[in-house]
Amino acid sequence: MRNSCPTTHFFAIIFFSFYYSNMASFRCKLCFKDFTTLQKLLTHERNKHRHNKMVPHFYSLVQPSSEQMSYYINSFIVLVKKRLGFSRHAVGKKRLSIETFPEHVFVYFFKDEETFKYSPARHKYQCHFEGFAGATRLKQIFFYDYWDFRQHPLTNTKGYVLLEDYENKYQVKFTWNQTILTENNREFVLGRMSCNFVTDSGEFQEK
Ligand SMILES: [Zn+2]
Repeated sequence: MRNSCPTTHFFAIIFFSFYYSNMASFRCKLCFKDFTTLQKLLTHERNKHRHNKMVPHFYSLVQPSSEQMSYYINSFIVLVKKRLGFSRHAVGKKRLSIETFPEHVFVYFFKDEETFKYSPARHKYQCHFEGFAGATRLKQIFFYDYWDFRQHPLTNTKGYVLLEDYENKYQVKFTWNQTILTENNREFVLGRMSCNFVTDSGEFQEK
């Protein structure tokens, strides 16, 4: 005879929900689907939320002060200028990173940009700028028109961040991610911003 005892039924539900919650420990923070492995969650995120802009924990990210924003803008500009030179050796793909960069500062810099995207499973943000339009936008974000070049003190040669030339458009790509170290029941979190860009150098006649 079929057992229809309500108590058994009740415990079956408890058991299955307990079992299920232990099995499915990787939940998509965007659509709340559960996955059994991180790999499956990452594949799901890549397929379904590739251009996601939503930051589910945005409420916990405090708006940075203008002093804090300009501190990180200044640091970034110093590091960009260090990558710029005047010889052929100073030309090509470059990368810089700021090893301790607060998450909320990154989010407030770029959250309104068209190319801003966030992966909750990786806790990773990206944003890129391209071509003349990208160059103009970055001048606005950094409040500085000269962030992307360095003038040789004696000649008309400039080293600069390349965003567009006669043939192509190039990207300046910003990424923020974090590294977590777990040791002695403590979690140590490091947030890092990195930037990939292309540099060039050339002689410019004074206008
Ligand atoms: Zn999802």
